[in-house]
Amino acid sequence: MASDPDCLFCKIVSGEVPSTRVYEDERTVAFMDINPATRGHLLVVPRAHAADLHAIDAEDLQACALAAQELAGRMPEQLGADGVNLLNCAGSVAWQTVFHFHLHVIPRYENDPLRLPWHPTPGDRDEIAAAAQDLGA
Ligand code: 5GP
Ligand code: ZN
Repeated sequence: MASDPDCLFCKIVSGEVPSTRVYEDERTVAFMDINPATRGHLLVVPRAHAADLHAIDAEDLQACALAAQELAGRMPEQLGADGVNLLNCAGSVAWQTVFHFHLHVIPRYENDPLRLPWHPTPGDRDEIAAAAQDLGA
């Protein structure tokens, strides 16, 4: 399977870099974003390295979309979310900062302060772990 030794998300997939994992299947891994835009913000990535939307294999893209749908489906009941944003950034001009394809799954709450683009700031680790527990980690 394609892996890039210099890629942060490949290291998260392999476990070399720790993450708070909330879901995995044959093709995908999902983990909490360390700079959450809202409570419960997570990322779905393919296990195989692909830099972006243009490069990802069609079956991996499908698997990521289905994993995102599954996780988004947990958000209303398990997090109390009122809505969900799915976001993909392709290219730095489109705000991509990590060049391993990922879908942001961002729960939205009535009257939450999120405006896009958000300014990533580190989340509280315990609070991120608590949100992961709520999501079934
Ligand atoms: P992008 O800007 O490429 O669409 O999104 C990259 C995301 O990865 C950002 O939301 C950022 O907070 C997240 N991120 C960056 N480094 C790490 C990390 O080491 N661990 C985790 N869990 N998320 C990260
Ligand atoms: Zn990678």
